[in-house]
Amino acid sequence: MYERFIAKLKEVRTLDAVGSLLSWDQETYMPPKTAAARAEQLALVSGLVHEKLVSDEMGALLEELSGRPLDPEQAANVREVRRVFERERKLPTELVREIARTRSLAHEAWVAARKAADFERFAPWLEKNLALQKEVAERTGYEEEPYDALLDWYEPGARARRIAPLFEALRARIVPLVQAIGRSGKRPRKIQGRFPLERQRAFGERIARDMGYDFEAGRLDVSAHPFCTGMHPTDVRITTRYDEADFRDSLFGILHEAGHALYEQGFDPRHAQTPMGEAASTAIHESQSRLWENLVGRSRPFWRHYYPLLREAFPEALGDVALDDFYFAINEVEPSFIRVEADEVTYNLHIVLRFEIERDLFSGRASVSDLPALWNRKMEELLGIVPPDDAKGVLQDTHWSWGLFGYFPTYTLGNLYAAQFYAAAAREIPDLEARIGRGELLPLREWLRERIHRRGAFFRPEDLCRDVTGAPLDASHFVSYLEQKFGALYGT
Ligand code: ZN
Repeated sequence: MYERFIAKLKEVRTLDAVGSLLSWDQETYMPPKTAAARAEQLALVSGLVHEKLVSDEMGALLEELSGRPLDPEQAANVREVRRVFERERKLPTELVREIARTRSLAHEAWVAARKAADFERFAPWLEKNLALQKEVAERTGYEEEPYDALLDWYEPGARARRIAPLFEALRARIVPLVQAIGRSGKRPRKIQGRFPLERQRAFGERIARDMGYDFEAGRLDVSAHPFCTGMHPTDVRITTRYDEADFRDSLFGILHEAGHALYEQGFDPRHAQTPMGEAASTAIHESQSRLWENLVGRSRPFWRHYYPLLREAFPEALGDVALDDFYFAINEVEPSFIRVEADEVTYNLHIVLRFEIERDLFSGRASVSDLPALWNRKMEELLGIVPPDDAKGVLQDTHWSWGLFGYFPTYTLGNLYAAQFYAAAAREIPDLEARIGRGELLPLREWLRERIHRRGAFFRPEDLCRDVTGAPLDASHFVSYLEQKFGALYGT
């Protein structure tokens, strides 16, 4: 019975991997003229994935398995598949189609509205996306507030009531830290010069290799927005983008995406294509990328080892830049309008803003027409700046145009998990920082693999955190990390 369930599930996952490969190709090598044909191919595959998943056969298998004795790993697989199955089954096909139809039109409207910095053009479409997602929340159900139904989709078990105090704690300590940094008047020296693309690629590849990214089970390509996509633990691909005037985009893109990829390459092969061989949640996935990108990749020990090598690769641009100046330059803090360009400190304030707004939209405390003013007021409260127009404000992100509500908080939860995991690793791995300072990155990869990657979705995210760190998720690790690191840099 269980074997039949797994065989059925693997069909779904295999088909899903075919879709992922088509999407990867679309973002990397697809000739532009085939866009419409590719959209057809993707629609067909995703329709088939959905049909197979919510089929009566799958329903009957889940039903029968619910009464059987299962070992804990089997039970975790059944639990996670049932979660998705029940949610999808509660959504009538007509609603799913309506969401798909509306979001692509809403996205087009958003592109035009952002270009013209004209919120009014997007507002009616945002209303529609919001109404549809409110219907999803009502149909799928929640205990406390409608927004929880959306959060739970990305972060099993997440509740707004639990996230709010974590974000309050961030707000209370990060806002004064940003203000103190501003008052310090310290500024890093700008790094300027040319960074030939080919050398950037070679350097990024070397770091990914040192992290333990397996190029025999993955590859590195170029796309407009960096991403990582895993078809199977034996095929996990990453992308980045190159700017010859600035090496940071490509380098930190590679560190970030390779962090995601190590998670997927580290899944237990015995459990490939089942929840036991998949990520515990979106935020746990993000914790792996942010841990490598920020806690390791923007740290002083890391650059003690890698900076001489980076300098060797770019002697014209970095020849007269000292390690300290370089370290300061990659850790500059400055309030800015655009989330995706924000530094480690201010980034989370952008997420706090979005979380508060989304929660209010779903509870009815705010309406779409309030958004531009609400956005600007919160920007002023949190970051002390007001966007000059809505393109640099409420219209900047693509998420709401796709009807993705409840996704933003996972970015900050990922940062919080990353800091808490890293603190546990530093307690358990002897001389962790000294090893990173010698370019020995594998002990950390091994620890993450054993404690997190191999466990797949065995635990719910909060339980995984308790298991790995001995404590529930808490903002204090992240905030102390920021205060120490940036306090030292800015003398605050
Ligand atoms: Zn990421």
